[in-house]
Amino acid sequence: MDTIELLVPAGDMDKLKTALRFGADAVYVGGQQFGLRAAAGNFNLDQLSQAVDLTHDQGKRIYLTLNAYLRPDDFDELDDYLEALRPLGTDGYIVSDPGVLQRIKQVDPRREIHLSTQVNTTNGYSCRFWQQQGVDRLNLARELNLEEIRQIRSLSDIELEVFVHGAMCVAYSGRCLLSTALTARSANEGACAQPCRWNYALVEETRPGQYFPIEEDGRGTYIMNSRDLCLLDQVPDLIRAGVNSLKIEGRMKTLYYVAAVTRVYRAAIDAFLADPAGYQFDPAWREELDKVSHRPYTTDYLPTDDAAVHAEDSRYRRTHDFIGVVRQVEEGRVLIEGRNRFKVGDEIELIGPKMCQHRFVVAPCEDEAGQPVATIQPNARVWLPFEGAVGVGDLLRREKDQPGWVSSGPAGQ
Ligand code: SF4
Repeated sequence: MDTIELLVPAGDMDKLKTALRFGADAVYVGGQQFGLRAAAGNFNLDQLSQAVDLTHDQGKRIYLTLNAYLRPDDFDELDDYLEALRPLGTDGYIVSDPGVLQRIKQVDPRREIHLSTQVNTTNGYSCRFWQQQGVDRLNLARELNLEEIRQIRSLSDIELEVFVHGAMCVAYSGRCLLSTALTARSANEGACAQPCRWNYALVEETRPGQYFPIEEDGRGTYIMNSRDLCLLDQVPDLIRAGVNSLKIEGRMKTLYYVAAVTRVYRAAIDAFLADPAGYQFDPAWREELDKVSHRPYTTDYLPTDDAAVHAEDSRYRRTHDFIGVVRQVEEGRVLIEGRNRFKVGDEIELIGPKMCQHRFVVAPCEDEAGQPVATIQPNARVWLPFEGAVGVGDLLRREKDQPGWVSSGPAGQ
């Protein structure tokens, strides 16, 4: 129970630094081959080497995803890739395909192996089986409830990992050909187009083009539309059940998402470990999770009385927008890199690790040449007067409903 790990996605180097800064014990990253999330900013070998050094310098761990299902012709390339990866010293590989597991055992036998959620492990006998094959850790299927996790723990001493937060499939994770069928983009090769979240209509076969109005709202119906997982309330139960690692989903998510979600789970884990008997849930943690872009939250199947997985609409919601990153700190001022437009006079919030946050009004700013700046645009770098505790990598955000708020688009999220 003392060694519970908070495992956080790191889609690129900036997100990796943010994840470590905001409280991750370990990060998972994709390389440029054989990891799902084809569109994430995956790491090349040089970047991976830097990422490993950076993570290990902080005494933390880094895992590489190799969780695609491979075709016969892929294996020569896989062996070459494993050879190239071997000297980098990542702490483990996340795999799905038993063939990949077998090749790792041949080429790099001492590497720790974690079994991906794509394998859909749902019982202790499967855990024993995979342990006998040389797997060190298993990510359990999201479909399990707490009692089932306890039963699995009692049957096997393998390391157990569970997803606690993020998007979910409507199929068993990744076991779905919808994207392949509709777009030729395979979910199990990291290219899912998420067609389960598209709007669908009913058409009678002899009347092509005539759509029957089966509506849940004005935009259509959402027959396969999953909520987002949020097991913040269940953190103590999961730790007590013997889970070793709590994993956050989302290598495609933004810097702000990584920071905000990581610091909340860090706070909950630390509060529980510091005083398990006196642990009290802080409602501010849940409010914090509402400030990032998300679909309606669900606990999925974890408590047996809650199977409310389906969302009634397809909208993402959030109460705040990510507007900037602190890139440099000097006495009385910080250098900000803008992500969304904001201006002098706006009331904004600075967030840092350990649930630190400061609300303040933006004072007159200047650019790096010393010229006054009234409106901070996305990607602009400006000096912002600021007094208080702040560090490089802290983030700025702004409530969405302020009068005069203008969004510069979804790129900030
Ligand atoms: S289409 Fe939906 S259910 Fe299927 S793999 Fe993609 S996200 Fe998962």
